[in-house]
Amino acid sequence: MKFLITGGAGFIGSHLAELLLKQEHEVTVLDDLSTGRMGNIEHLKGRPGFEYRIGSALDVPLVVELVDRAACTIHLAAAVGVKLVVEQPVHTIATNLRATEVVLDAAARKGKKVLLASTSEVYGKGTRSRFREDDDVSLGATTRSRWAYACSKAMDEWLGFAYLREKGVPVIVARLFNTVGPRQVGRYGMVLPNFARQALTSQPITVFGDGSQCRCFAHVGDVVQALVRLLDCADAPGRVFNVGSDREISIRDLAQMVKERAGSESEITFVPYDEAYGEGFEDMPRRVPDVTCLREATGFAPSTSLETIVDDVIEDQRSRQDED
Ligand code: UDP
Repeated sequence: MKFLITGGAGFIGSHLAELLLKQEHEVTVLDDLSTGRMGNIEHLKGRPGFEYRIGSALDVPLVVELVDRAACTIHLAAAVGVKLVVEQPVHTIATNLRATEVVLDAAARKGKKVLLASTSEVYGKGTRSRFREDDDVSLGATTRSRWAYACSKAMDEWLGFAYLREKGVPVIVARLFNTVGPRQVGRYGMVLPNFARQALTSQPITVFGDGSQCRCFAHVGDVVQALVRLLDCADAPGRVFNVGSDREISIRDLAQMVKERAGSESEITFVPYDEAYGEGFEDMPRRVPDVTCLREATGFAPSTSLETIVDDVIEDQRSRQDED
């Protein structure tokens, strides 16, 4: 089968392209290289069935052509990273809303399947111990930039289901929880590559807030397996799926784990949120998925331990330092 991956030169997209090629599918990557990098897909160039186009997911004729040529589109192109989102809210809202509309509109012409990558951020200020796909969405005030990302992604989901109902586009929504692994960079704020880089360069490991906030980290290799299974699942269109791990760890414990596994002398420091992200920033104290829907529909469960994930990220950061 032929797949189009928007944002395919990004961290998750490049791993997905690799897996689909391994399964002998054809893959076209569309990426504007805003946060994606050629280095992520360099090793795929020349592989049978692989092609890439440098261009924008907002370029209607280009997207129509590529969506048309593929059996299915995985729409990953989006503004990513809390830091980037807080610093560039206009870009975030415009990219996330418009690109999704362009992709869905192109898919509607011939009823092509679309998997929309959404985010656990849409659970916003929810307080359930495990977030379920049918939970209410409760976001913060519109004056706080962080929520622009969640709101734009929630709107993408609405848009996806609107295209399904009105125009018959088979749309699957995958809400990705914290996804980490090789090729993820810390530049846009992501915690694990940041901690690993800090640990390896003997810089202070910067825990934001008091570090009691918790997250569940899944290895990107597991996450792309889950996405491929969803694409294969006949019952998936029209539904939302949490995708990620449900093993929870506090950010303070994560910092300690990175420090130990990297054999680092770095001290662990605590940085107030206002200093890290600007005044009035709101974090989510906990974010744990209920992954029952994904497991029941696809049989998927993540298989990489947190220790292996941390080792992989440390190794990746180490090899980047060598390159530098
Ligand atoms: N964080 C941190 N130090 C950093 C980067 C992030 O303590 O250098 C915290 C951040 O405030 C959040 C958690 O780590 O509570 C996860 O951050 P990330 O941006 O990776 O993902 P999020 O879950 O916020 O989308």
